[in-house]
Amino acid sequence: MHDLIIVGGGAAGLWASIVAANRGLNVLVLEKNVKSGVKILMSGGTRCNITHHCGPHEIVEAFGSQGRFLKHAVFALPPSEVVARFNGWGVATKVEETGKVFPASDRALHVRDALVNQLQNAGAQLRTGVAVKDVRRSVESCRWEIVTEDAVMPCHNVLLCTGGLSYSGCGTTGDGYAWVRNVGHEVTPTFPALAPLVSPAGWVHELTGITLPDVSVRFVSGSKKDKDTRKVCRSSFLWTHFGCSGPAPMNVSRFVSQYEAARAADSSLPKMTIELDLVPDVSETELLERFDPAKNGRKRVGSLIGDWIPSKLAAVLLHNAEVDDQRLVAELPRKSRLQLLSDLKRLVVPIDSTRGYGKAEVTSGGVSTSEVNPHTMESRLAEGLYLAGEILDVDGPIGGYNFQAAFATANAAALNVKGCIG
Ligand SMILES: Cc1cc2nc3c(=O)[nH]c(=O)nc-3n(C[C@H](O)[C@H](O)[C@H](O)COP(=O)(O)OP(=O)(O)OC[C@H]3O[C@@H](n4cnc5c(N)ncnc54)[C@H](O)[C@@H]3O)c2cc1C
Repeated sequence: MHDLIIVGGGAAGLWASIVAANRGLNVLVLEKNVKSGVKILMSGGTRCNITHHCGPHEIVEAFGSQGRFLKHAVFALPPSEVVARFNGWGVATKVEETGKVFPASDRALHVRDALVNQLQNAGAQLRTGVAVKDVRRSVESCRWEIVTEDAVMPCHNVLLCTGGLSYSGCGTTGDGYAWVRNVGHEVTPTFPALAPLVSPAGWVHELTGITLPDVSVRFVSGSKKDKDTRKVCRSSFLWTHFGCSGPAPMNVSRFVSQYEAARAADSSLPKMTIELDLVPDVSETELLERFDPAKNGRKRVGSLIGDWIPSKLAAVLLHNAEVDDQRLVAELPRKSRLQLLSDLKRLVVPIDSTRGYGKAEVTSGGVSTSEVNPHTMESRLAEGLYLAGEILDVDGPIGGYNFQAAFATANAAALNVKGCIG
């Protein structure tokens, strides 16, 4: 009988198997796909952004209110240790300007293969192409039974690493949620997160293909109550035929999904928007000076704003301000000047929705962390049941934070699973 059966051979499951098997536990990993680590292979544009180059504090902070739950696990396995482990397993790494850590080879395959090699070296067993149908408590001496199409496998401990609901083609169809509900766990409502955003505005679609390297995006829902700092994100931004994509809008998408659900239930809620600060390094005072007729009166408006933003986007701002690009700053009506200043600092983009789980990199929501021990990742409701990775109600921003959380929670679980007792 196995000490530990891990359901899901993704980032969390593979990492946990190495750590647990190296402790001498008898470990089996069951993965429904014919290959393990499918999301690792497709992650970071097939380059796999394994973690973020920062201290554990910054990782915890990046997860907002959910960060508190991750604290112990991330301090026990900080980014530097994740990097050191991969380096030790033969995967050289590099840090990019954004702080993202990638394999030096730029090949996600090397990350996945290193994990599988280590799993084998540690003596764990990996069975692919095996879909788990149920995970239930046993009435026999062992504690858990793992039910597959053609077998019932008893084990002392089970670690659920089945991930969330995004990119269901990768095998992540939320199977673990049903099993934990059966033992009394709460699963907080799930939403697509790190997803591109859909806008109904025609002018948005016309900007398709234009990238803004540095924009600050703010999610605006009309509700002033929630002050979550993650509603604002400064990073790059891509206009697309459906709306927008890129790290800045995707990082605020969890709030779009949540609000979309709230509006579906209550149509009286105001529509949502995002506001873009197109010139985050330029203060309003500096902008006022640039548009001061006494200083720049002979300059053409078009060329002035063309210093900051691409011409096609500048045309949108000029249209909103009802001026043409040849107009001199000295000739700008006050209303037009204020409109231009406002659009440069707070361009309003109407938003309908995200592009859903099909395009969401992670799932927000999941197994309630209040029912899981943050030191051991063991369920507080069912002894011998452990949870790690995206199945938990934790989701971080783009930048390697989600793999970092998956590895850290898997590590905590694997270090604390109790060995065979009978
Ligand atoms: C396109 C894309 C790009 C991404 N890029 C990055 C990135 O560069 N950096 C980053 O930090 N994060 C990235 N992420 C997020 C990251 O992939 C996930 O947060 C991470 O994989 C979660 O790890 P996990 O082990 O919890 O779940 P997963 O990696 O999703 O693994 C869950 C596994 O469980 C298996 N499974 C599910 N149900 C069953 C069952 N019933 N029986 C057997 N097996 C089952 C699934 O097949 C799957 O292999 C990306 C995600 C996507 C979709």
